[in-house]
Amino acid sequence: MKLRTIDSLDVAGKRVLMRVDFNVPLKEGRVTDDTRIRAALPTMVELLKRGARLVLCSHLGRPDGQVVDKLRLEPLVPVLRDALNSALALEHLAPLEVFLSPDVAGEGAQRTIAAAGNNIVLLENMRFEPGEEANDPDFCRQLAALADCYVSDAFGTVHRAHASTEGVAHLLPSAAGRLVEAEVSALSKVIDDPVRPLVIVMGGAKISGKLEVLESLIPLADSVCIGGAMANTFLAAQGHNTGNSLVEQSMFPEALRMLELAKEKDTALILPLDYRVGERFDNPESCELRPADGMQDGDVALDIGDATLEKYHEVIWEAQTVFWNGPMGVFEQERFATGTLGIARTLAAVSDRGAVTIVGGGESVAAVNRANVAGHLTHVSTGGGASLEFVAGDELPGLRVLLAD
Ligand code: ADP
Ligand code: MG
Repeated sequence: MKLRTIDSLDVAGKRVLMRVDFNVPLKEGRVTDDTRIRAALPTMVELLKRGARLVLCSHLGRPDGQVVDKLRLEPLVPVLRDALNSALALEHLAPLEVFLSPDVAGEGAQRTIAAAGNNIVLLENMRFEPGEEANDPDFCRQLAALADCYVSDAFGTVHRAHASTEGVAHLLPSAAGRLVEAEVSALSKVIDDPVRPLVIVMGGAKISGKLEVLESLIPLADSVCIGGAMANTFLAAQGHNTGNSLVEQSMFPEALRMLELAKEKDTALILPLDYRVGERFDNPESCELRPADGMQDGDVALDIGDATLEKYHEVIWEAQTVFWNGPMGVFEQERFATGTLGIARTLAAVSDRGAVTIVGGGESVAAVNRANVAGHLTHVSTGGGASLEFVAGDELPGLRVLLAD
C-alpha cells in the first residue's frame, strides 16, 4: 500500500489541518497516559520546521454528536503544550502556545485560528458535532475552510469514514503523517509476503468481534495460537465442559468452521492444553490448573495454563513474524496474568533474535507495557480496531483516501 506522504505537500506558510488521535484516558479531569499525544509529535515537529501553522483536530470518547462537558479537550492542552515544547527544544526551536478553539469549526474556530498566529490551534472534540460521524458534506466543507491542506496522523481512527478522518481529505491537498506511514509499513509486514513462519497469537474477551480477523489470518498464517475467553468458545464448541467460563454459544458453529478452515488451509490452529481457573470471577483466593478436557462445573477459565504457555513459547520461538492481539487471560488480576505476561516476554525474546514482532489492541498493548517489553518489539500499534481491520485485509476509508496514484 502506497500512501501520499507529507513530502508531497507544500506547507511553508500554510495552515495544515492535522487529524490526530488524542483519544487519551482521563481520570478526574487529568490525562493519565499521554502516549497518543506523544505519538503525533514527530509529524507535528516536522511540519512546524517546514513552516506550517497547525490546526489540530481529534475526538475524545463517545459524546454522540452533543457537547459533553466531561469530554472537552481542555485537560489535554497543558499536556500537549509541554510535550510539544520539549520536542521543539530538542530541535532548538522556540516554544509555542496551544489555543483551544471552543468551536469545532465555523466562524468561532476561524477567529481562534486568526488570533493564534503561528501558535498551535486545537479544535474542540470533533464528535460534539453530529456532522463528524455522519461524514456530513457541509461539515466537511466547514473543516476544509479552516486550512490549506490536510494531514491524517490518527491511525486509531482510519477505519472510520468520518468528516475529519475521511470526508475532508477529498476537499484539500492531503497526505498521511509519519505515524500513519509507520503503522502501515509495520502492519504490512504481517500481510504482505510475511517472512515465515508467521505465527498469530489471538486472545481477548470475545470471539465474535474478532472472528472476521481470524478468518482472514488463518489462510495467511503458519500457526495460530488461541487464548483468552476466545479459546473457551472453541473448547465448548468441541463439546468440552467449560464450567462457568465466558463462552459465546451463538458462535459455536463459527468456531467449528474456523477449525475446518485451518485444516483446509494447512494452518496449525492451536488451542490451550490447560487452563488456570478461578472458582468465582471475584474470589481473590482461588486459582487452579486444569487440563483442557478436565474442567469442572463451576470452574471459570481465566488464563492459559503452564503447559499451554510452554507450547505457545515453542511455536513462537520458531517464528520469523509474529502478530499478537488479545490477552491470554484476565491479566488485570495478578494471578491470571502469567499467560499474558509470558507471551509478552516470549515476543521480546524472539524479537531480540531478529524476528518481526507486532502487537495491536488496547489491552494487549497495556500488557506489553506492564511486562516492560515494548522497547524490544518491532512495532506496538496505536490503533486497536484499526490495526485489526488492517491485518484482516479490509479497505480502511481513512487510508483509501490517501492512496498515492
Ligand atoms: P485487545 O484490547 O487487546 O484487543 P480485548 O479487548 O479483545 O483485547 O480483550 C481484553 C480483555 O479480555 C481483557 O480485559 C481481559 O481481562 C479479557 N479476558 C482475557 N481472557 C479472558 C477470560 N478467559 N475470561 C474473561 N475475560 C478475559
Ligand atoms: Mg480491548
